[in-house]
Amino acid sequence: MNKPPILAVVIPCYNEEEILESTINRLLEVIDELNCSDIISRESFIYLVDDGSTDRTFQIIKNFHEKYPQRVKAISFIKNFGNQKAILAGLLEIRKFNFDCCITIDADLQQDETKISEFIQKYREGNELVYGIKNERNDTSFLKKICAMSFYKLMNILGVKTYANHSEYRLVSKNLIDVLSKYCEHNIFLRGIFQEICNKPAIVYYDVKKRMAGTSKFSLFDLFSLAIQGITSFSTVPLRLVTFTGLLISLLSFLFGFSVIIEKLLHLSLIDVPGWATIVVAICFTGGIQIFCIGIIGEYMGQIFTEVKSRPRYIIETELK
Ligand code: UDP
Ligand code: MG
Repeated sequence: MNKPPILAVVIPCYNEEEILESTINRLLEVIDELNCSDIISRESFIYLVDDGSTDRTFQIIKNFHEKYPQRVKAISFIKNFGNQKAILAGLLEIRKFNFDCCITIDADLQQDETKISEFIQKYREGNELVYGIKNERNDTSFLKKICAMSFYKLMNILGVKTYANHSEYRLVSKNLIDVLSKYCEHNIFLRGIFQEICNKPAIVYYDVKKRMAGTSKFSLFDLFSLAIQGITSFSTVPLRLVTFTGLLISLLSFLFGFSVIIEKLLHLSLIDVPGWATIVVAICFTGGIQIFCIGIIGEYMGQIFTEVKSRPRYIIETELK
């Protein structure tokens, strides 16, 4: 680990025309600085994945590639496949080139790029995986904080060990990317996969900056979908909960039925008021639980459905090597 490693910086981009030029320039600057200080090799490069943008994103990438063909490489997708697949494609496709480790970072540079040297330092100390963990931001809304905290707590309860506040800003060694390539699933939740292939990652803490331009490409619905994807692709505990809920309700109904028979036999009349409210509440409650349970099972069926079709996980339109 004494030789400066060749670093590949993978950036997923979706409609980032407002910000991409300054991001690429800034990252080239960081790579130059690190190269001058002998922290990384001069062969290091940036690898952009255009995730089916409909704006000028790919044109900007092309211009940079023409100017710096060795330092800026890219692929573009035929359509939008989503952030997880864009990152996955970047990680898998850079294997065509010579590199030692890779850092994934967002195109808006909200993640502090000056920390890249710390990532490399941890890599050179022998760590194959380095997670970027966000420092708490005071301006994050209370609702977002609660949602994020509950998600990580729930994941841990369901047996999916993930680090709280960790994002897609991470360093991965070439070896681990080879292991990642053996994961052929379509429903990708990279945080879970990396946790599975290396459970002792090193950590770099960083501050999250505000987006300089453009808007977030993740709606609350996208975040919710990612959370469900994370849970359903790494834990079957919800299915077990469905079974236990069914068993519990059946047991309670049995006990209730049994008590009614005893009452009748002993000519006790404990329920003397026709309890329509109780019945309606009970029906609604069990109905709700049933629909919720069917929903959970449906989520898993949906996962199986997309997995068995075995369609390509992404389709590359153009490659700038
Ligand atoms: N992104 C992508 N495909 C998508 C949505 C987002 O490649 O369908 C990229 C986006 O260009 C950015 C990164 O994923 O580089 C994170 O997106 P964003 O900054 O919008 O997310 P946020 O920071 O709001 O969570
Ligand atoms: Mg962002």
